[in-house]
Amino acid sequence: GVKQIRRALISVSDKAGLIEFARELVGLGVELLSTGGTCKSLKDANLPVRDVSEVTGFPEMMDGRVKTLHPKVHGGLLAIRDNAEHRKAMEEHGIGAIDLLVVNLYPFEATVAASKPYDDCVENIDIGGPAMIRAAAKNHDDVAVVVDVADYAHVLEGMKEHAGGLTLAARRKLAQKAYARTAAYDAAISNWLAGELSIETPVYRAIGGVLSESMRYGENPHQSAAFYKTPELRPGVSTARQLQGKQLSYNNINDTDAAFEAVAEFDPARTAAVAIIKHANPCGVAEGATLVEAYEKALRCDQTSAFGGIVALNRTLDAEAARKIVEIFTEVIIAPGATPEAADIIASKKNLRLLVTGGLPDPRATGLVVRTVSGGFLAQARDNAVVDDMELKVVTKRAPSPQELSDLAFAFRVAKHVKSNAIVYAKDGATVGIGAGQMSRVDSSRIAAWKAAEAAKAAGLPESLAIGSVVASDAFFPFADGLLAAAAAGATAVIQPGGSMRDADVIAAADEAGLAMVFTGHRHFRH
Ligand code: 5GP
Repeated sequence: GVKQIRRALISVSDKAGLIEFARELVGLGVELLSTGGTCKSLKDANLPVRDVSEVTGFPEMMDGRVKTLHPKVHGGLLAIRDNAEHRKAMEEHGIGAIDLLVVNLYPFEATVAASKPYDDCVENIDIGGPAMIRAAAKNHDDVAVVVDVADYAHVLEGMKEHAGGLTLAARRKLAQKAYARTAAYDAAISNWLAGELSIETPVYRAIGGVLSESMRYGENPHQSAAFYKTPELRPGVSTARQLQGKQLSYNNINDTDAAFEAVAEFDPARTAAVAIIKHANPCGVAEGATLVEAYEKALRCDQTSAFGGIVALNRTLDAEAARKIVEIFTEVIIAPGATPEAADIIASKKNLRLLVTGGLPDPRATGLVVRTVSGGFLAQARDNAVVDDMELKVVTKRAPSPQELSDLAFAFRVAKHVKSNAIVYAKDGATVGIGAGQMSRVDSSRIAAWKAAEAAKAAGLPESLAIGSVVASDAFFPFADGLLAAAAAGATAVIQPGGSMRDADVIAAADEAGLAMVFTGHRHFRH
């Protein structure tokens, strides 16, 4: 619960708000300790304060590099108050408890931003400050830590509310902020050094990536590239074991990730599923009783594009599926596992990369998606919405049949993994036409329909695969035209988020065309 603040150590480079804050602390009966410059400011304001060098018995030395790095300080921050042995150590060595640490760090970032010389930047790397912050934050069960001038006011508020103490919840929050600060501080130092050394893409270091491998080149041969891995434990391209084949290229890794994330949408306990990916877009996704059945259905959607593609499977690769996959040129296969027999079959294709992951990632897992923009990067939570969790609302006179409903959910699941504007035609648990990445939804609709007709021709079938299919749209139809293009192509049912100003027109057009339509209330933009 609430822990009383009796003693505070204040050591701040940015002295804004310091005097007011310290005066209030003194008013609440808090004893103050402080370092050189901070101590002087407080004394100048006639506040009672003791210099830490009095406590440690050591003067500040080496240009301030060593001020607080002493057991009397760190013991006071780290001792567990209700641990008899810790208390005994405190007594034996004359260590006094420090209940509140107020530190803001040497202005390293500002020094770099002001283009100061290299040595000035180095000298502005704070050592004792982060050490104390991390110590106090670790011991947040007993100690509160403040690293931001902006937090002074509500810390005082909290203390006044709790008779000079702070709650555990408050201390935990402060500890989290403290580690965020030291992490960002070290990231800034590492980024600066990376810049000095001309090491590329330091931005990824800021989110905790570790250089895993350098690639021959990036998306194009004139671009350098490297793979940085974050300590994420999701089974996937970063944790996969490569059983054979050449080194993965930048594009391979990107596409393999897209493929595996797509196929992970299909629960392997319910169905086998396969996704074939080209340029990070699916050119065929299907489910089936077996992997080979799912693969053949997925391949039928767009045989031409599947050439040189990435194949992702949601179950252990078996011999039957492996035999089928090696019939055409494939760049990468990724699966939770591979049987020895399947691995042998793949081994006949020396260059084909086979990756095994030991499992599937959870499509509902939270996570971070990062993209660079000029001068910074954008970060967002990953799209972990799953159609099974959505409340589907029938908006047309006709409700979808059970078969249509099952295909609608399938199509929407796939649409999540298609670049916007995404239109996906599906039938019997397989995509039959995919329109991706167009600037207008109606164009995506037309392309998907055209591809469904082409797929039929390639298979020697008389009529388009879109006849009797269902269609999914990743975002609402802004006009009826895209929907009518789908109806004209042969779709009988539609799934889309809804929410357009013209929903009423679109619903009326669907009714007139005899379509069944459901709204998901969730959009799956993917740009
Ligand atoms: P002051 O102005 O009080 O002399 O110094 C305050 C600054 O010193 C704070 O930014 C604090 O993080 C930093 N600091 C405190 N202890 C140490 C230490 O032992 N070594 C270094 N390098 N900096 C420290």
